[in-house]
Amino acid sequence: MQALHWDASRGSVKLVSLEKPQITKPDQLLIKVAYSGVCGTDLHVMKQEFPAAEKVVMGHEFTGTVENIGGEVTGFKIGDNVAVDPNSSCMKCAFCLKGQPNYCPTGGGRSAIGMFQNGGWAEYCVVPVAQVFSLPADLSLATSALCEPMSCLQRGWDMIQPLLDDAKILITGAGMIGLLWASLLHHKGYRNITLSEPTDGRRKLAKNLGLNLKVLTPDILATQYKDVDTAVHGFDLIMDCTGSPRAIEAIFPLLCRGATLCTFGCCPSGSKANICPADIMMKELRIVGSLINPYTFIKAVPLVAAMGERYLDYEKLGVKVYSLDGFDDAFKDLKNGNISKAMFKLNEN
Ligand SMILES: [Zn+2]
Ligand SMILES: [Zn+2]
Repeated sequence: MQALHWDASRGSVKLVSLEKPQITKPDQLLIKVAYSGVCGTDLHVMKQEFPAAEKVVMGHEFTGTVENIGGEVTGFKIGDNVAVDPNSSCMKCAFCLKGQPNYCPTGGGRSAIGMFQNGGWAEYCVVPVAQVFSLPADLSLATSALCEPMSCLQRGWDMIQPLLDDAKILITGAGMIGLLWASLLHHKGYRNITLSEPTDGRRKLAKNLGLNLKVLTPDILATQYKDVDTAVHGFDLIMDCTGSPRAIEAIFPLLCRGATLCTFGCCPSGSKANICPADIMMKELRIVGSLINPYTFIKAVPLVAAMGERYLDYEKLGVKVYSLDGFDDAFKDLKNGNISKAMFKLNEN
């Protein structure tokens, strides 16, 4: 089978021909991959800024059909449409036993499929049944390839509760994750959403969503709020999707009393930001992080189905589909910001 194989010693991925993987344990399924996304984390891996195995087939956001089933697997049959949760955990450590598998010292992002085990940038992938989710009949394999990123947003959604119905919201960064956040919050009924983004192309994508967002540059946002008493008229929720310490410094003073700041973007580890700690007490701020997708994949599948084409249309979101051998173009287009997300289509499903 064709696969995109990461080799850290070479510092790049390469299209290779591998043996079709086989089920080796009774709790596994063999998945024939249909759609397999490229995410920001993958680009970090390829720049060696994010941990992954020395050699691995990457791809941690994928859907496909069940090709074969291990002897102990129940609830699935050959041909079923499925999505894969790349993350698992040991289920033995104190974190796992307390219901926090994303903190597991050996699990969570530290053993993920597509990072530490062969993943979905390939025609086939073997996955334990606990990480395979059935898809509703009316949900396409293409749309449902967004289940993994949406499972991470579902975690963020849980972390920012309670969020009042009239919340005034700022999203920083209109990459794929910022666009998905705008879509999710609109789907949930929020209508007072501002999105700040420095690049023209991404602002255009945000406007094309047709969600009536207030889309502006960080500079214009700063000018608009220069003389505003943000303690009273600031934002109730700021969702940072930039992963930029400078961006976080800039928006921190815009938080209203009782507001929540969620850092969803991935800041470089060890980086620092200057914020005013007195504001945390005087405004009773909540600062929350959101780490991968503990127990949220099961919620993400019906969420993606409910949002459907209305919110998750590839064209509107700026998602472009490539064949696996078009990977050079896919990574180039992503880096140049021509698209919000690259999606590999395999097996011509
Ligand atoms: Zn990802
Ligand atoms: Zn554990």
